[in-house]
Amino acid sequence: MDVRSQDPSTRLRTLTNFASSIKLESRVPIQRYFRSGTEMLRMADVYYKEGSIENAYTLYLKFLTIFVEKIIEHPEYHTLSSAERSQFNPKIKEIFPKTETLKQKLLHIFQQEHELYEDEMAKKKQEETLRLEKEMEALRIMKEDEERRRQYQVEKDKFMVDVGHRPSNEKSVLVKPDGLAPIFSANNLYPSNYVPSVTHETKAAAKELPGFDRNLKPRTIFLGPSGLRTVVLPASVLDEFVSLADFNTKNNVETCGILAGKLEQNQFLITHLLIPKQNGTSDSCTTQNEEELFNVQDKYNLVTLGWIHTHPTQTAFLSSVDLHTHCSYQLMMPEAVAVVCAPKYNETGYFTLTTNHGLDLIASCRQQGFHPHPSNPPLFEVASHIQIHPTAPVSVVDLRKL
Ligand SMILES: [Zn+2]
Ligand SMILES: [Zn+2]
Repeated sequence: MDVRSQDPSTRLRTLTNFASSIKLESRVPIQRYFRSGTEMLRMADVYYKEGSIENAYTLYLKFLTIFVEKIIEHPEYHTLSSAERSQFNPKIKEIFPKTETLKQKLLHIFQQEHELYEDEMAKKKQEETLRLEKEMEALRIMKEDEERRRQYQVEKDKFMVDVGHRPSNEKSVLVKPDGLAPIFSANNLYPSNYVPSVTHETKAAAKELPGFDRNLKPRTIFLGPSGLRTVVLPASVLDEFVSLADFNTKNNVETCGILAGKLEQNQFLITHLLIPKQNGTSDSCTTQNEEELFNVQDKYNLVTLGWIHTHPTQTAFLSSVDLHTHCSYQLMMPEAVAVVCAPKYNETGYFTLTTNHGLDLIASCRQQGFHPHPSNPPLFEVASHIQIHPTAPVSVVDLRKL
């Protein structure tokens, strides 16, 4: 269905309900929500500056829903200091009127789109009526033509019999016999190859009927799998990471990094590879001192787009621990990607939890450490929204050295 066909107020209400129906995952640490809140604002501000009103409105509203309404329901809320609880208060004050203005603008846009839609429909209907009329007319002409031919054939056969010829359908006998007046003229009979040209014209006209302009469709966020925004990953990230991990890899120790970047024209660009202080083993890697990581992200205004880690001796896949790690990334950012480098096999995997199954299953799994999960249907899949860019640059911040 074309959303523009909806009554503008209903359309706005649906969008508003959608944005405010956000659910808090109590298993996601509350600090992660606050981190995510900072990134939501970063993205919403980009949409706002780019004039992407619907996306800006939706994201600001989600932010307000979480940090005005839902966050107090989080089981860890009582553990926060009052300074932590109120960290977004100045931002909230700023966003409330901004969101209301966006809402009015959006209603106006929806009204305009709706009017345009109605105009298009009326025009389409008019053209359809015209097309039917033309078809009827063509049919009428064809019937008349047929009738004239039949009449002529009758007359001609009669005439041929009169002058001593056998009746024939052949065109060659249509010559005027000497001394006799022609029984037909070009004026009263169409040539035999006549096809009413209206038929062709109507076909062409039908093809030119205005279709829906895809550009007019609103861009929305947080849709189904195909609605994910593209994440552009510079190929150099992989080279940089594998060489930074090389020492660990040779010692059979995993290395991990954070992929961060920016939103631009509704797609994500990975611009930074951040290597946090960490503790790696042969099959795991835990980040340490995340505060340091956040400071870098704030400094460069970055949003978290996923993570990357090595499997020194194994192939590229997501272990049960990896699935849980990635789950919290993907719950916060639907486009988050898990990149796994397996240098021994010269393999790189770009993974995401399946949204129709894996994400829910892992989000509700309470086990820790390595543990089995039912693997059918699949819990993760190759991310289809990733685009590898052959030449885009990447900045590396290696916090292990500091
Ligand atoms: Zn792994
Ligand atoms: Zn599990």
